[in-house]
Amino acid sequence: MSTLIVKPHAVCFPIPAQGHINPMLKLAKLLHSKGFYITFVQVAFDKLQKYEGINGSFQFKTISDGLPPDNQRGVLDLPSLAYTMPIHGLKSFRELVEKLNSPDSDSPPVTCIICDAGMGFSMKVAHEFNIPGFTFYTLSACGMLGYLKYENLIEMALFPLRDENDLSNGYLDKTIEWTPSMGTIRLRDLPTFLRTTNPDDIMFHNSLEAAQNAVKNGNLILNTFEELEKEVLDILKSKVPNLYTIGPLCLLSDQICQPELNSITSNLWKEDEKCLEWLDTKEPKSVVYVNYGSFVIMTPKQLTEFAWGLANSKFSFLWVIRPNLVEGGPEAISGNFLNEVKGRGLILDWCSQEKVLGHPSIGGFLTHCGWNSILESISNGVPMICWPFFAEQQLNCLYLCKEWGIGLEIDVNVERSEVERLVKELMEGEKGIEMKEKIVELKNKAEKATQHGGSSYTDFDLLVGRLKGEIP
Ligand code: UDP
Repeated sequence: MSTLIVKPHAVCFPIPAQGHINPMLKLAKLLHSKGFYITFVQVAFDKLQKYEGINGSFQFKTISDGLPPDNQRGVLDLPSLAYTMPIHGLKSFRELVEKLNSPDSDSPPVTCIICDAGMGFSMKVAHEFNIPGFTFYTLSACGMLGYLKYENLIEMALFPLRDENDLSNGYLDKTIEWTPSMGTIRLRDLPTFLRTTNPDDIMFHNSLEAAQNAVKNGNLILNTFEELEKEVLDILKSKVPNLYTIGPLCLLSDQICQPELNSITSNLWKEDEKCLEWLDTKEPKSVVYVNYGSFVIMTPKQLTEFAWGLANSKFSFLWVIRPNLVEGGPEAISGNFLNEVKGRGLILDWCSQEKVLGHPSIGGFLTHCGWNSILESISNGVPMICWPFFAEQQLNCLYLCKEWGIGLEIDVNVERSEVERLVKELMEGEKGIEMKEKIVELKNKAEKATQHGGSSYTDFDLLVGRLKGEIP
């Protein structure tokens, strides 16, 4: 008698933003490689490239988000999504799960739901259908702890801000207890969404709720590794019974993912592929890579300061200026910049960042400190210059510069002389050499963590066991 083996079925639901879709897709591919049937959920989002599902067991389903068709959605408008998703998203997600579980569905019954912490409402659906629910918090562990400091801010009467003057009158230099080894940190190092006069602010509210829900749910997945954020992870483990650290996902994927899954990509913008050929023409570790991720918006003045700082450093650079990074695009740079940097400066709209960071010509990364960018940089042993923009990026920057010694911070009011000085320090200074040594050590630790027997590899095995119901 033959037995029909029914695959476990994981439904993966990210926030529709680049920095959230990327790690969720990696996790989905990892689970598929371990025998799961995958449904990857996306919201109606005109700009998203259409994914092609493969071999019948990796499907993409689109649900309605309740926003009007002309809205830019995940590119810039997370606040609007934050309003509509808990109502429209919840309804359409519930309908999707119902359909997937109906007798005429052509997929196996859903056995687990993995949602981004920012999509916490989908846990309601998990409970309604009695399906185990897991939260994936795609930001750093230190970022998560940063939001959880809210309770202490309330106790100390440090939240909300009294008025806008608190942003400039020394209030942000007040300190708060952080971890035993770091002691205190300044309020300006905490996530920026905690700096508000309005406790009903939607970004504050949602970010706080995401961190709190992640704790409450009790089954938490983090894209980090034990050896990188140990102290913070110990604190989080005391609050969350089942915490799985499975990062850096970019390295774990290299170890475990089926190669045929490489054809599924998640870029919201079209990648420029010629930049890799351009990098081939450059000396090893001679090029500065500049990219501010998918959310940063800057002024033409800031863009001009970065531009002339890079030009005056005399180093080669590959600079991604996303179409909506700055009004006017690269043309907004004042002066004869493009002529000045001809041959040694390449500007493009978007690239495959992982491939660029893995290219031997890259010697340093000027970043906004998004968590994926940091992990990808560590995984490739590339030290950083940090210009944190918002959310938990300030905390990531603190860790990069003070705790791990692999980053140099640029002041929020960026000036060309400072950019020039820091680029030179990073690429040829003594501090730059030290940083390179430190980041190679971290890269080795990250590789070890994601190889057989390493901390992330082992946690991923445990997670798979839990998701399959083999481990209670
Ligand atoms: N990314 C990319 N090409 C680009 C810029 C970014 O592939 O030109 C990817 C990058 O590799 C990372 C993600 O987009 O995985 C950005 O996430 P991150 O957390 O660094 O920043 P966010 O965009 O969320 O601020």
